[in-house]
Amino acid sequence: MGEQTILSEQTIFRNAKLADGSRVDLSVTGGRFSAVAPAGKAPPADLAAIDPIIIDLGGQLVVPAFVEGHIHLDTSFYGDAWRPHIPCTKGFDVRERVAFQAQNLAAAAPMAERAKNQLELCIGNGSLAMRSHVMVDASVGLKHVETILAVREKYRDLIDIQLVAFPQSGILSSPGTAELLDEALKLGCDLVGGLDPASFDRDVKGHLDVVFALAQKHGAGVDIHLHDGGTLGLFQVEEIAARTKALGMVGHVAVSHAYGLGDIPANALAKAGAMLAAAGVAIMTNAPGNHAFPPVAALRQAGVTVFSGSDNIRDSWWPYGDGDMLSRANIIGYRSGFYEDHELAAAFDVVTHAGAKALGLEDYGIVIGASADFVAMPAQHVPEAVVAVPKHRTVYRRGRAVARDGRMMGIVQA
Ligand SMILES: [Zn+2]
Repeated sequence: MGEQTILSEQTIFRNAKLADGSRVDLSVTGGRFSAVAPAGKAPPADLAAIDPIIIDLGGQLVVPAFVEGHIHLDTSFYGDAWRPHIPCTKGFDVRERVAFQAQNLAAAAPMAERAKNQLELCIGNGSLAMRSHVMVDASVGLKHVETILAVREKYRDLIDIQLVAFPQSGILSSPGTAELLDEALKLGCDLVGGLDPASFDRDVKGHLDVVFALAQKHGAGVDIHLHDGGTLGLFQVEEIAARTKALGMVGHVAVSHAYGLGDIPANALAKAGAMLAAAGVAIMTNAPGNHAFPPVAALRQAGVTVFSGSDNIRDSWWPYGDGDMLSRANIIGYRSGFYEDHELAAAFDVVTHAGAKALGLEDYGIVIGASADFVAMPAQHVPEAVVAVPKHRTVYRRGRAVARDGRMMGIVQA
């Protein structure tokens, strides 16, 4: 769609039900919400004068588009041939999984095609903002980054994508990676990634020195994969929070997975929660099966921004994932033992407003001035939507319908 056409377009969405239960008419001008008025009122004078398009939403629940806060666009096989999962030989081992991934990728369909399949899956389900990690290491160099940057460009009218230069094979243990991360940031990546500074590189200080120096050099954010559990994981979480605060990067750093926060005593969690909140370090969890994961309610209570993502979808790490952040909210609620309405609403917040905060999205939400990126679906209210996960949805990007019932409505040229 052309930017020019959108700028001159005015639409009124009649009879929308918002999360607070109110019935409203939403005016959209130039792709942004320009008025929110009680349902049934006449259009604002400025819109009435120019004969806007009228769409009746029939009382459907209208929520901001979902935030896919952690995905891997470069390594999924979604839409490609099924790859049976290969188990690690002696329990979970990141290095062994990276080797399996290299084998699988060598035989896969072209990366741009696979990334496109995955993006369209996510957009179809209502995610219009995304953070994708993209592998950078000595074996692939900048190939993945270059491919995904080009895919991002093709889809920029449909979805906002942040890219993390992700050192999938470590930094210190993979010579040349620090320089490649630097190049990836120059090429257009928005954040620097990291990977288990202790268990992978076996040098927490050295690993974090490189990550934070690059972030400072480029004015980039940080989002570190941290799978280490227990005290080892906790130690690194605290180190990351301390550096973030010391460097004045409050609100620009995230830790993904942080499994360690899920298997430590309550007093240690309280201390870590206070540190993370003070440093504005967000925690990403996808509530993976059969794994300790960060306690969502306790962290939110402590003031920590908890966000979520699909992470791996049909890749060399696991066969699960459906690219649906509403279904992810359901998984988070289910695994967290959330039953009450306010708890279900918290699970929903993780995939919407908290995600927007973690990604630093400034024009998010159903508010005047925000980009009109939203999802309309048949649900009584947010708690029911989290439990029922209605698939019959319409996704609007800048006030225009782009996907319905899980499928994108237009074709993006390859
Ligand atoms: Zn990941």
